[in-house]
Amino acid sequence: MNHWLGWQIGNKASENLILFLICLRLHLGHVIHSTDLFYLLLLLLSKPKSNRSCVLSSQKLKENKTQKARFERVGLFSFQTLRIMKPHKQIKDWGLGLTTPLIIAGPCSAETPEQIEQICKEMKEENMVPQLFRAGIWKPRTRPGSFEGVGEEGLKWMEIVRHHLNIPITTEVGNASHVEIALKHKVDVLWIGARTTVNPFAVQEIAEALRGVDIPVMVKNPMNPDLELWMGALERMYAVGIEKLAAIHRGFSDAYDKRFRNKPNWSMPIHLKRQWTGMEVINDPSHIVGRRDGLLEVAQSAMNFGLDGLMIETHHDPDKAWSDAKQQVTPARLKEMINSIDFKESLEAMQPDEKLQDLRRAVDHLDDQLLDILQERFAVIDQIGAHKREHHLSVFQSDRWKDVMESRTQKGVAKHLSEKFMKELLYCIHEESVKRQEKQLREGEALKK
Ligand code: PEP
Ligand code: MN
Repeated sequence: MNHWLGWQIGNKASENLILFLICLRLHLGHVIHSTDLFYLLLLLLSKPKSNRSCVLSSQKLKENKTQKARFERVGLFSFQTLRIMKPHKQIKDWGLGLTTPLIIAGPCSAETPEQIEQICKEMKEENMVPQLFRAGIWKPRTRPGSFEGVGEEGLKWMEIVRHHLNIPITTEVGNASHVEIALKHKVDVLWIGARTTVNPFAVQEIAEALRGVDIPVMVKNPMNPDLELWMGALERMYAVGIEKLAAIHRGFSDAYDKRFRNKPNWSMPIHLKRQWTGMEVINDPSHIVGRRDGLLEVAQSAMNFGLDGLMIETHHDPDKAWSDAKQQVTPARLKEMINSIDFKESLEAMQPDEKLQDLRRAVDHLDDQLLDILQERFAVIDQIGAHKREHHLSVFQSDRWKDVMESRTQKGVAKHLSEKFMKELLYCIHEESVKRQEKQLREGEALKK
């Protein structure tokens, strides 16, 4: 069964069939073969924006909240699990009245009722009212002794936001008691901070406190670039019935790159969106950059990558803020920034135009050729395998491997393909070749017995 995925794959119907079979294999709990993975990779590389949900009509699959399958570890690739989640509610279904990407703004921390009042007033005067107002009430500080948030009292001040702006509010929760207090004060949306996402015990405790509650939850990425932890936290929420979920990309701690407070890693939100079609990711440029300058550039990159909204820390007097003073902006500056961002159209929401359709057809055709070439290449690999079997040669020869890697990488780089891409691609192809030949040797030995 492992080699059911041949390379004679060309048209759309076969692509869909392959995806269906892969999903079915996952559903049946099969280990996915590296060939499957490579084909999936080709599909993903060629069509980064398209919808790739593995939606199966099987009722049983629908009933399962998550489906997991172990990937074999393939060369440099670190995809380990592929989960299929039931389509969850998107941000537009949270009742926020969205027509554009979600804008979340407000101070890092609620400090005083006067501060909240002033920020709201300036937002209104500037006509820069976000869709969701943020304020931290419990602040997870790196060192004790820093301002750790005003606590429950601050949630009472949120009435000011409702009074001035009539918009929902969101705050960070880090444990079950925070959840209980936030729910008591009717906070509309919760978020889980980066320092909490790293800790499955804390995330599970929050999840248990939310069991059966219908409230949207946004999960920030963990401090370290671990996609599994990020997904794990989202899954824990989903498992207790939270279907209104979003992720927040706030960058990853990096001791060496001083340009950022937390370095962005755009492939992470993209992996997340690919693995869970429909998962929306908000960008938090404030915690990525850590300074006022550079916020716009990161926010624009997020929109270019197709992220779904922005969370920007906003304070009427940023320099005097009790936390994260360097990165907060005034409502006036927020307005300038939002007005200068080029918000891209979501392709999901519109019909692709003629030109795009033509270009996509061209890519489909090239993919067909690529697959024909791969088929041919593996046929030659099989002949080499037969030759090795006949002459008692081992499959792997390091000199040859080194030569293939170096020469092809150089050629690829000369054709403007990145070195990293070339190496990953060659590892993948080589690993498959070695496995095929090793299988041939094993079959030869079995025949002899
Ligand atoms: C915050 O949003 O104020 C915060 C503490 O963020 P993070 O968890 O991303 O550090
Ligand atoms: Mn902050």
